[in-house]
Amino acid sequence: MKQGLSKIMVAVRLRPMWKKEKEKGEISIVKILDRNVVILMDPADVMAEEKVLGKHRTKEKQYAFDFAFEENAPQLELFKHTTKFLCEGVLNGFNSTVFAYGQTGAGKTYTMLGDEQNPGIMFNTMKEVFKHMKRHQIDREYTIRVSFLEIYNENIKDLIMISNDVLDLREDPIKGVQVAGLSEIEVHTPDEIFELLVYGNKNRTQEATGANETSSRSHAVLQIICEYKEKDAGVKAEIKVGKLSLIDLAGSERAAKTGNRGLRMIEGANINKSLLALGNCINMLHENNSKGQTNYIPFRDSKLTRLLKDSLGGNCRTVMIANIAPSSSNYEDTHNTLKYANRAKNIKTNVQRNVLNVEYHISQYTDIIGQLKLEIQGLKLQLGQGGNAGAALNHNMPSKDKRND
Ligand code: ADP
Ligand code: MG
Repeated sequence: MKQGLSKIMVAVRLRPMWKKEKEKGEISIVKILDRNVVILMDPADVMAEEKVLGKHRTKEKQYAFDFAFEENAPQLELFKHTTKFLCEGVLNGFNSTVFAYGQTGAGKTYTMLGDEQNPGIMFNTMKEVFKHMKRHQIDREYTIRVSFLEIYNENIKDLIMISNDVLDLREDPIKGVQVAGLSEIEVHTPDEIFELLVYGNKNRTQEATGANETSSRSHAVLQIICEYKEKDAGVKAEIKVGKLSLIDLAGSERAAKTGNRGLRMIEGANINKSLLALGNCINMLHENNSKGQTNYIPFRDSKLTRLLKDSLGGNCRTVMIANIAPSSSNYEDTHNTLKYANRAKNIKTNVQRNVLNVEYHISQYTDIIGQLKLEIQGLKLQLGQGGNAGAALNHNMPSKDKRND
């Protein structure tokens, strides 16, 4: 991964038609061409065309993305093109974010988590990170930690260490946006992680809604934190920290469509608040980047955008996977997702390596001071015996080391 300006990568993934959709007589209105073009047809046109063969389609919409995956694309294929290239970067101290966007039932959780037979991006990323880490371990010392949280009703909850505590976001000038009190679990093998992910995912707030029985009303964020220092760095080491955030967003459909009332409606409003804020930030960043404007970016409008601030506006390589369904009844949501994804294409982020310059091995340092003291004593003795090296000596005394910027 290189430092410097980088565009958000946008990929679209079409899920297969469900059996029950086929049984209901739904027709497919999405086509993928050349692995990067998505064609969305207006269901009314498709129906009309079935009656009047050869009718010219006027309302067909075409979008081009970095990648477009057709309905049978395997999990590994998706991983290979969207996330694999970020793994080496996170081990070298760069930040990256991958998020899955789309309406409920479009395949976000399948893409990010998957199942045991077809593990998704989260597990494949861990495997890849460990594979690369082994190679680097010859000259580096690594610590790999993960955290898993959800944002539900604008509250942040730990998905691994369960408690009723609502966690707060803080901005650290060096480390960026941090979630205070969030547990970080050290992992030693990728296999430990799948169970942890399934466990965490079960702790997500899931409610039956009118749109989909297992609809997830929360945003889930897995962060993989890779910290390392060079083994032969001497008395002063730079600790480098890379953070890879993998995000399974809540459904992007409008609350009205699910026919929700009461509590569900409030949840809907909050989900919309976070996704709306995300949409506003994407729009503003798009305007700034494509038209050279300097609009204020409203990251502070929601928990999700505050958390994603680094990922969208700043120091991060970002990938958006827009999940879509093929069936005609999802036309409006699919259209909205494609428009959303299309706007995200032009956003640029500025990727930098995260370096924390810290003093370490204090014991080594005190050893050196001890040795120097002995040397000084010896020299003073020599001085007492004649010669005047005192001024030069004082000048060369090691002072307490300062942090580099
Ligand atoms: P979301 O998280 O967006 O609400 P899910 O990932 O839960 O949607 O997907 C809904 C259903 O569709 C699940 O049963 C899932 O297994 C299936 N599904 C989604 N995408 C795919 C895919 N690419 N291949 C096979 N099944 C899929
Ligand atoms: Mg889901």
